[in-house]
Amino acid sequence: LIGYVGIEAVLDQMKRKAMKTGFEFNIMVVGQSGLGKSTLVNTLFKSKVSRKSCTPDHEEKIPKTVQLQSVSHEIEEKGVKMKLTVIDTPGFGDQINNENCWDPIVTYINEQYEKYLVEELNVNRKRRIPDTRVHCCVYFLPATGHCLRQIDVEFMQRLGTVVSIVPVIAKADTLTLEERLDFKARIRQNMQDHGIRVYPQREYDEDEDDALRNDKIRENIPFAVVGTDKEHQVNGNKVLGRKTKWGIIEVENVAHCEFANLRDLLIRSHLQDLKDVTQNHYEEYRVRRLNESNA
Ligand code: GDP
Ligand code: MG
Repeated sequence: LIGYVGIEAVLDQMKRKAMKTGFEFNIMVVGQSGLGKSTLVNTLFKSKVSRKSCTPDHEEKIPKTVQLQSVSHEIEEKGVKMKLTVIDTPGFGDQINNENCWDPIVTYINEQYEKYLVEELNVNRKRRIPDTRVHCCVYFLPATGHCLRQIDVEFMQRLGTVVSIVPVIAKADTLTLEERLDFKARIRQNMQDHGIRVYPQREYDEDEDDALRNDKIRENIPFAVVGTDKEHQVNGNKVLGRKTKWGIIEVENVAHCEFANLRDLLIRSHLQDLKDVTQNHYEEYRVRRLNESNA
């Protein structure tokens, strides 16, 4: 065998290293009160990927201004530890005057880049820098069936250059299938018209395969999601769902809504890619900062 390098052994080492160190993944949720952010976060933690060993850090009383709070869960799967942190932003867009309501969010994101930079520049550098950078910002759009609102446009335009935004349609159970398709198409058009860049960005596709895979996602966003924190019995199985007069909406069932697509994108298929793109955003931040301090 020409070029045989014993790749199995290398993969084994990589795996062992990953198992030893574990990794961090940080998701931020943004959207107006009542859109189901907290519920969706619970759904994410309760859904199949993380049903075992969830230990929430703390939960505080929620004030009505944008105040960020995070909840971490240590998830262990096949010996690999993952620390999944969700940063909630209650109060975003709840004021009568929402001018600059994104400021605390931009500030938070930049503060995490700054913390990482300070650690990196530290001579007595820690072997592994704690990673609190926001790997993904899930932005909740109300299921109005109309189009993007001014606040949505402004938020995504501003944040799209510093963080990976994944827009979702909240409480999608309030839309009919036809309304959902129309709304999704209209939002994609709006985003294009306003030069809004959401994840996965075309420029970060690494090869043909990547591009094909990501095109499927780009054609299908924003995911129309439904959240719940209740389980129901369906055909003898326990499923996460919302019980209504006309039946149970199974949130993990792709025939019912696109929650599973979102979950898979975030913590299965694109987790490493989201981390890589975050590294790119961080490097842009670092260049800006180092230029500033040299000026
Ligand atoms: P937050 O303010 O964005 O954190 O919203 P919450 O998670 O507190 O949810 C607000 C209300 O909406 C609660 O009564 C939830 O039960 C309900 N809710 C959450 N998700 C959904 C959903 O997907 N569909 C529907 N119909 N209601 C939802
Ligand atoms: Mg909430």
